[in-house]
Order: sequence, then C-alpha cells, then structure tokens
Amino acid sequence: MRSVFFPRLVNGAYGDPALYVHLAYRGEALLFDCGDLHLLSPGELLKTRVLFLSHAHIDHLVGFDLLLRTFLARDLTLLMYGPAGLADQMAARLKGYTWNLVDGYPFELTVREWLPEGIREVTFPAGDAFHPHAERLIPCDNGILHTTPWYRVRAVPLEHGDIVSLAFSLEEPLHVAIHKDALERFGFATGPWLGRFKDLVLQGSDPDTQLSVPLTRGGRQAVPLSTLRRHIASTERGMKIVYVTDCSPIFRNFRRILELAADAHLLTIEAVFLHRDLERARLRNHLTAWQAGRLARLAGAARMRVFHHSPRYQREPGILEREARAAFSGNQKPL
Ligand SMILES: [Zn+2]
Ligand SMILES: [Zn+2]
Repeated sequence: MRSVFFPRLVNGAYGDPALYVHLAYRGEALLFDCGDLHLLSPGELLKTRVLFLSHAHIDHLVGFDLLLRTFLARDLTLLMYGPAGLADQMAARLKGYTWNLVDGYPFELTVREWLPEGIREVTFPAGDAFHPHAERLIPCDNGILHTTPWYRVRAVPLEHGDIVSLAFSLEEPLHVAIHKDALERFGFATGPWLGRFKDLVLQGSDPDTQLSVPLTRGGRQAVPLSTLRRHIASTERGMKIVYVTDCSPIFRNFRRILELAADAHLLTIEAVFLHRDLERARLRNHLTAWQAGRLARLAGAARMRVFHHSPRYQREPGILEREARAAFSGNQKPL
C-alpha cells in the first residue's frame, strides 16, 4: 500500500515526545504531542493543522510556545485536542504573556477537551488578547474526536498514575489505490488531478462528475468519475497508525491499547524502561520495552516504533529497542 501518512518522531527515541505526521498530497500535517519542536522548520510547523495532546506533562507540551510564535501573525487556526482540563490550562498559559500589540491578528487557537459528556470547545482569538470565547459542547461517539473525508482520529483514555493520558489512532477511512498500468493504457498523465479524483471518491461524490484529465500525448479529456473509478482505481482498507504513550503498566490499559491498536499498520508506543526495571516502571507509571513489544505483537501491528526511552539507558543506546523487538518477534523472555 502506498503511504498517505508519513510519521516522524521529531526528537528520536530519547527526546521529548512529538510525532509529526505529514499528510501526503495535502501540504498539511498533524502533531501528536508537542515536546521540544526546534527540529521542525517554520515551514513544517506551519503545516500543522491539528495538535493532539496526550496529557499536559511538560515533556509533551513544552514545544507549544514555538508553535504559537510561528502561527501568531498568520491567518490560520490551530486546533488542539486533549484531555479534560486542557482549556483552563491553555487559558492560564496564554495569560502568562503580554498581548497588547496583537490587535487585528487573525490567528485563533481552538482547544477541544474530551469530557465524559462530549467535547468542550473554547476558542482563543489572538485579536482579543487570547481571551476565551465561544464555548460550546460537541457530541462525541466512541472516542472519535476528529473526522474529515481523508482521515479520522479516535482516542482512548489510559491511566497514567492518577491522571488520564490519551492514546490516539489515525485512520484513513478507505484507501484509494491508483493502477499505473491502467493510466498508461488510457493515455492518462499523472498529476494533481489524481488527488482531486481520490477526494471525490472518498467524499462519495456524484458519479457523473466530470474530471478534466491530462493526456500523455498532450491536451485534456473530460472523463466521468464513475468511468475512472471503474478502470483506474480500486479501494482497500485504509492506513492506520496508532500513538500510545505515558501509561501505567496495568491490565486495564493493556486492554484498551490492544483494542485501539488492532491491526495497525504502525504502532508508535512508549518503551521507557527495561523489563528488569518493572518495579520502577510501575512506580513512574510507564511501560517497559518488553510490554511495548508484546502489545504490538498481540495487537497484530504490522510495524512498531518505540520511543520515550529513559535517559538512564543512554549508555546502552539500542537496548530498549532490542528488548521491544525481541518481544514483538515472539521471544518468550525479556533481555
Ligand atoms: Zn512523558
Ligand atoms: Zn506523563
């Protein structure tokens, strides 16, 4: 399957958590947590449309100010999802700066916190010194926080000591695969029109919609959507990537992770301690590398990436990765 999501752990396995996911053909990106973001260019930061925050511990949120500073004078909206309490935390954070020279700035931060009764939305417009505005409650079914025709994000709450840390799955509803050989047979040239074609398929548009298709011999031809759908493309299960971090090593969490990550194409999961340090992992409310690998295996994930390694193992850089891989490949004993 051709990737539509290009995920990247901004700070590698040992740095602050931040998963930057570039959305192919869209010039947009999503961020899962925003620890230190200095390794992203301003151009990459500006592509961010939605930020999904697992919880507000400082290592997951410290990069927010750089994001805000980059967006501030732009005519853009940044949408941020997170657990209960986030809107008040962001209000307090924004209040910590002086905003007397931002009159007329169009930028808005919209915070949506997930509560048992739905999603509470609070908007913070730069032009009004980031005072909270326009509060409303949005219904939320089955943890599905955010839906577009191209992807949806679902969350489950995990226990991280006595607070909630959200885990997220990013799913493409349907994957539209283009058959290159069919394009050649019809003499259709590749190009941005294929992106529009995929959008129309995913949106369930009128099959009689005409597309202007560029031809390899030059010129263009109007072709109905239904003809293209029949001859140049097929659909299959969409791509799924899952992000799990900061959770206590307990069965209630394991069950929720397995349900969220079932058959994921990629599971990105914290592996903080070696399993021989399980007591410490319990005390600090994090997973061991062994548990991360086992969970990836049991969920049937096709690929696994581990991160959020404790600095205590920095003198043996690959050891957590090795332990997680051993569990993922079915070894019976931790390192
Ligand atoms: Zn953390
Ligand atoms: Zn934490």
